[in-house]
Amino acid sequence: MVRGVVQGVGFRPFVYRLAQEERLTGFVGNDTDGVNIEIEGPEKRVEAFLVRLRSQAPALARIDSVTVREMALAGDSGFQIIASEVLGKVSTGIPADAATCPDCLRELLDPRDRRYRYPFINCTNCGPRFTITRRIPYDRPQTSMAKFTMCEACQREYDDPLNRRFHAQPNACWKCGPRVWLMQEADSASVSGEEAVKQTIQMLMAGKIVAIRGVGGFHLSVDATNQAAVMRLRDRKRRYGKPLAIMVRDLEAAHQVCVLTAEEEALIITPARPIVLARRRDGCRIAEGVAPGIPWLGIYLPYAPLQHLLFADPRVHALVMTSGNLSEEPIAIDNVEARTRLGGIADAFLMHDREILQRCDDSVAAVVDGAPQLVRRARGFVPIGVELPFDVPPLLAVGGHLKNVFALARGRFAYQSQHLGDLENLIGLEFFRESLDHLMRTFEIEPEIVAHDLHPGYLSAAWAREWAQERGLKLIAVQHHHAHVAGCMAEHGLTGKEIGLALDGTGYGSDGKIWGGEVLIASLTGFERFAHLEYVPMPGGEAAIKEPWRMALGALHAARFDVESEELMRLVGARENEARVLARMMDRGVNVPLTSSLGRLFDAVAAVVLGRRVVDYEAQAAIELEGLAVDEPDDVPGYALEFTGGDWAARVPMKMSTASLWRELLTDLQIGMDKTRIAARFHTGVAEGFVKAAMLARSATGISQVMLSGGCMHNRRLARLLRVKLETEGFEVYQHRNVSPGDGGLSYGQVVVAAAMLSQPLSFGDTH
Ligand SMILES: [Zn+2]
Ligand SMILES: [Zn+2]
Ligand SMILES: [Zn+2]
Repeated sequence: MVRGVVQGVGFRPFVYRLAQEERLTGFVGNDTDGVNIEIEGPEKRVEAFLVRLRSQAPALARIDSVTVREMALAGDSGFQIIASEVLGKVSTGIPADAATCPDCLRELLDPRDRRYRYPFINCTNCGPRFTITRRIPYDRPQTSMAKFTMCEACQREYDDPLNRRFHAQPNACWKCGPRVWLMQEADSASVSGEEAVKQTIQMLMAGKIVAIRGVGGFHLSVDATNQAAVMRLRDRKRRYGKPLAIMVRDLEAAHQVCVLTAEEEALIITPARPIVLARRRDGCRIAEGVAPGIPWLGIYLPYAPLQHLLFADPRVHALVMTSGNLSEEPIAIDNVEARTRLGGIADAFLMHDREILQRCDDSVAAVVDGAPQLVRRARGFVPIGVELPFDVPPLLAVGGHLKNVFALARGRFAYQSQHLGDLENLIGLEFFRESLDHLMRTFEIEPEIVAHDLHPGYLSAAWAREWAQERGLKLIAVQHHHAHVAGCMAEHGLTGKEIGLALDGTGYGSDGKIWGGEVLIASLTGFERFAHLEYVPMPGGEAAIKEPWRMALGALHAARFDVESEELMRLVGARENEARVLARMMDRGVNVPLTSSLGRLFDAVAAVVLGRRVVDYEAQAAIELEGLAVDEPDDVPGYALEFTGGDWAARVPMKMSTASLWRELLTDLQIGMDKTRIAARFHTGVAEGFVKAAMLARSATGISQVMLSGGCMHNRRLARLLRVKLETEGFEVYQHRNVSPGDGGLSYGQVVVAAAMLSQPLSFGDTH
């Protein structure tokens, strides 16, 4: 029995070929939890078979385990592939979408091949999967390929176990498969096939915006080397500062625009083809407007044949390929929907008739501290399950508020949804419902328990309460940072008590305040707060997130600076009356929620160091601050955080004050120190502060394993400094790898906490 991602990835034909080559008899078939193989033959050849089974497995397969059992001889005469049967509960489900493989790419560009320049070429090793599937089993009638009847040649390939397209569900060709056409925004006339591709390239090269239907939705595309076109796209899409992803032809082209490490190179070419955040190469041709104010670019390579066709034209160097939506709305997938929603943005639409049944954005990843980390987990990764440290009952965890991802779980796996975006409006909630329905069908999971965030105002939590009530299901509220830390523990199979650093933007705390700079002593079922950043006011609440100068004023006020002094107002970028009004608000405590968030401290510091008054997107200020320090050495002296109070025996958390950090930082500014150095000193100070907190926690508890979690762990400099400094002090350090450390990973942690609480509800006996 072979378990893992072994169905719908060409595993059975691979086994068939292997058995033929080793001259073994028996059969191979899909089972409910993997692939079942019976082989018979001389011992040496059986052994060789087993070695090759692991070492030569198909590109998209992931073998988790191979269980071998000896059996009585069956005396089979040949080797067969047995038709798939779906029995009981499936655990393998639908594979993730995969980028065009090298074999298909060769055929795509080979004039002698019958699929020469066919925009939908694919095989068992590549092509769409999750995004075209309605429900299990993953078979053609359950996909959006059902309406295309295969021609004789395609059918022959599909039926031949030795063919690369054996049971390749989206198999198609010019004769029988989907087609493309180009429609101008101004009129409804269209051109199709080769002409559509040709005209698309012409329009892009002329600076036009083209909406291109892809694998998981529409992209909005412009020539990434054309600054005016990039700015026009930003204006129309109403996306002003946030970086835009760009696609380049191949690895060589990627090297021309970015300085890539070996790890980044490996990440860029994985079949999941995520957008990879990498250091922009000085003097490269990419327009400034693509990623203003930061030293990185989000780059990726073509993953669909249609994209390869665009890049086959030598004039096309780099294309902006950003989600086809208006600011934070879900990505458009349907032809009609796209014309309505993107009509004011795109000049033309390159469409096709292979329906996208699941919206799925591009994934985003980065190499953090030497290993890949997911920033946004979507196309190419969904719906691959993430392992859990123990078996769980059927469970739904609805995630957070921003960057929402929910998770369904059963048995040893949690299946996270694709990135759903912000659950702030009805479109977002509709996308959430639609995806939940689909994933419930896909895995045949009927949740018995629903886990949600503690925040009383989250749309996801309100929805969860209602949904659970209607169905009479058990509800479990999970504190935000506990979920972050527990998720990190579970990824590494840790089930004891650990130290968790939850360094984050916004999360609702057990005391009703906004947390995010937390040192927790956590188990899977509960936690104690060992230390946290001192609470500071957020003048104006939500407004302080969008306007970092408010945070700066709040933080400095809390650190007992005179925020109405002329000098501070100038530093913060506040006008006189603004400073006065905010100071009064803070003195009276009106509309000033308190926060211990590290993300907000980054905002405050960025406001002062960068003069950033307003942000265009979440975490912009923090990202720019990290970018500012990018060339500074790691060993600059840090600004000190001070520890006050705290009594572990009485469970009173220690407070980490930023008063002296601010004093030192403002002095550096006054003496005219380079801002790059100030940004670096700030990162070091924060890292050293939390390392010290971890050391104090170790003295109090004897625990020496530390989890690094929360959205701030996307900050590469901070993640690296924390890990190195913690290891220097003798800690074992754990970071997220398969789920995002930010709120995209929250639902995985909620699954873990909810399931652990059910099985041992009283083990920690404290707050949730
Ligand atoms: Zn292929
Ligand atoms: Zn065909
Ligand atoms: Zn969070």
